[in-house]
Amino acid sequence: MEGLLQVKNLEVQFKTGKKRLKAVRDISFSVKRGETLCIVGESGSGKSITSLSILGLLPTNGEITKGSIRLSKQELVGLPEKEFQKIRGNEISMIFQEPMTALNPTFTIGFQLREPLMIHRKLSEETANKECISLLKRVGIPDPAKKLKQFPHELSGGMLQRVMIAIALACEPNLLLADEPTTALDVTIQAQILDLIDDLKKQMGMGVVFVTHDMGVVAEIADQVMVIYAGEIAEIGDVDSIFNNPQHPYTKGLLGAVPNVDEKEHELNIIPGSMPNLDDQISGCRFHPRCPYAMDVCRKKSPPAFRVSDGRQSKCWLQEVNVNESATTIT
Ligand code: SF4
Ligand code: MG
Repeated sequence: MEGLLQVKNLEVQFKTGKKRLKAVRDISFSVKRGETLCIVGESGSGKSITSLSILGLLPTNGEITKGSIRLSKQELVGLPEKEFQKIRGNEISMIFQEPMTALNPTFTIGFQLREPLMIHRKLSEETANKECISLLKRVGIPDPAKKLKQFPHELSGGMLQRVMIAIALACEPNLLLADEPTTALDVTIQAQILDLIDDLKKQMGMGVVFVTHDMGVVAEIADQVMVIYAGEIAEIGDVDSIFNNPQHPYTKGLLGAVPNVDEKEHELNIIPGSMPNLDDQISGCRFHPRCPYAMDVCRKKSPPAFRVSDGRQSKCWLQEVNVNESATTIT
């Protein structure tokens, strides 16, 4: 399958007063067409910053200070805003957590869906209208002609999220970025939206980057999983091996934190402690204050990314000590 998105050694810094703080560092991953990569971590881990970097939408005090982001063959780092505008909503689309904040309450659904079709795909109003109806059908919205005439407040949360997906798909993007798009929805609607994204990904051959803190969602939708902690990749690999054979203690913690629905009295095994702030000085592995396996070396030296197997990496000294004496370091 063709490579679509390639992120290499991404570093993002934020300016606060005179300080510069690293929000993410040394993030590398790639996404193929027809593949979903889930970025998973607790809030504040840098997952949204990573996806906003791809969109060129970092807050004004944020800046990409190292690395490269390539979509197909085009470098996105350093791209002028004008060029980025052509890519956003055209080659890359985004679905946000709160559809109400992304839709304009004063315009009809039809108006907001027609606009990208007329601007990006240069369709006439009449053709755009037909396309709107077919898009709403595609995302499973009943009675689409009526919905086009309605305003956002007249639709339920689940329906609005479908409208957002329809808008995101209107320009047939190569890459869909979704940042916690189902968090605000109830479980049944969430499952329907995840199925829908998955179906559309297969039909349209899009690449999907899906940001979530929920391992249950990851299990539903991911092909590849990137676990990030305090701005760094803890572990990355394909979904089956991450779930069946997690290597990094943080991944194990996150998986332990998934409530088991089969057990009546499940206990949420929440990882004790909390994520460091951006300006906390932590020696060695940034997870060591919370890690039940921390060793001396962990407190002194930051672990490199060890290769676990093909496409599988874990940034943890245990990889060297316990698992594979001859583990190779990825540079
Ligand atoms: Fe824990 Fe050490 Fe691995 Fe960090 S390097 S996750 S502290 S065992
Ligand atoms: Mg976020």
